[in-house]
Amino acid sequence: MFDNLSDRISKTLKGLRGQGRLTEADIDKTVREIRRALLDADVAVPVVRQFASRVRERALGAEVSKALNPAQQVVKIVHAELVEILGGATGQLQFAKNPPTVIMLAGLQGAGKTTLAGKLAKHLKEEGHTPLLVASDLQRPNAVNQLQIVGERAGVKVFAPEPGNGVGDPVVVALDGVATAAREQYDVVIVDTAGRLGVDEEMMQQARDIRDAVEPHNILFVVDAMIGQDAARVAEAFRDGVGFTGVVLSKLDGDARGGAALSVTGITDRPILFASTGEALGDFERFHPDRMASRILDMGDVLTLIEQAEKRMDREEAEKVASKLAQGEEFNLNDFMSMLQQIKSMGSMKKMLGMMPNMRQYKQAIDQFDDSMITRIEAMVQSMTPFERANPKEINGSRRARIAKGSGTTVTEVNRLLDQFKQMQKMMGSVGRGMAGGGAMGAPG
Ligand code: GDP
Repeated sequence: MFDNLSDRISKTLKGLRGQGRLTEADIDKTVREIRRALLDADVAVPVVRQFASRVRERALGAEVSKALNPAQQVVKIVHAELVEILGGATGQLQFAKNPPTVIMLAGLQGAGKTTLAGKLAKHLKEEGHTPLLVASDLQRPNAVNQLQIVGERAGVKVFAPEPGNGVGDPVVVALDGVATAAREQYDVVIVDTAGRLGVDEEMMQQARDIRDAVEPHNILFVVDAMIGQDAARVAEAFRDGVGFTGVVLSKLDGDARGGAALSVTGITDRPILFASTGEALGDFERFHPDRMASRILDMGDVLTLIEQAEKRMDREEAEKVASKLAQGEEFNLNDFMSMLQQIKSMGSMKKMLGMMPNMRQYKQAIDQFDDSMITRIEAMVQSMTPFERANPKEINGSRRARIAKGSGTTVTEVNRLLDQFKQMQKMMGSVGRGMAGGGAMGAPG
């Protein structure tokens, strides 16, 4: 996400450090480099122009010349201005006083609307809502089916036209969907609509017809971050053609240069509410301009990391292991397996590492990190008998060979796993003893 842009801006700003005073020439050079980096990342020209002139103006002003550490002050200004172009405060969905709240999705075909519908429904469900998905994309042959699959995965009901009724009317489906939600006490309705490969008048008319029929409280414009410079133009077309209340950036996980993220709000004056970062239902996050700016400047996004860990961790499972250790029981391979599953449920290790501060310098190592390693370890542990898992010390040579064969790995890998596990067991043992002995983490007093 924003890799190249982030590399260049953070490098430029790091170059300023260590300078006691900053001359006008230093500042001009910095602004010029950032400006070039933004343009290369496909950020729309008017947005770049305004950003550069604001950073320059502020950097030449008193807040920098009087600062104890002028370079740090410039970083602060760049951060603040990035937050501004990303929309300032975190945007919110509007919820209706009288449910159901209606959310309509709009965007080009392939933008990621249907996928997003499932992600959003899952997210709302986790927040305590009871969403209903409505399949009003009757253009794309497989769209209804795809929404049904996504809904099933998210555990959310899908309202769709009866199959075999010929090509239905998307406006009627949308209206029926909202009426069904009201009758059956769903409090949020998400209406998926059709897109085309390019902007065209017929599509806009259909979107307007659906809009006028269901009067949505939110219209979310879904835009593929990978379409680069085009994002600004498509956003303008949708703003003028249908209008929208908020933006969702999809495919931010790709090699996107990030221009869409940094242009759409500046051009349309609508906040980015969510970001989609992969094909799985969990690859979804609220969009926080300040946190995103920190990520771009390689300052990390620890808040999002913690939130995701909290949401996806199985607290009960974690506490079980902790209390076992506290009672002085030995950490065994079953506990290890349960830990691995927790890590896996948090999603990609690579993505998590990317959210830590100052990680850009380790980029190569992170890129080489292989998420499938966890799967291999899991396979090895699964190939062990319950006795072996509880008594790793008893795993001798012939058992190792059997485990390697059963898990499709090699004896070397099994050896490595057991060695690493031994180290870990030692570490866990001392944590456990500390807890059991009423040390720092034990009973008060
Ligand atoms: P729609 O035509 O707007 O409904 O788009 P879809 O939801 O069908 O998405 C089009 C393609 O993009 C599908 O293959 C999705 O799996 C994929 N996709 C959607 N969102 C993301 C994302 O955030 N990241 C990645 N890598 N792929 C995505």
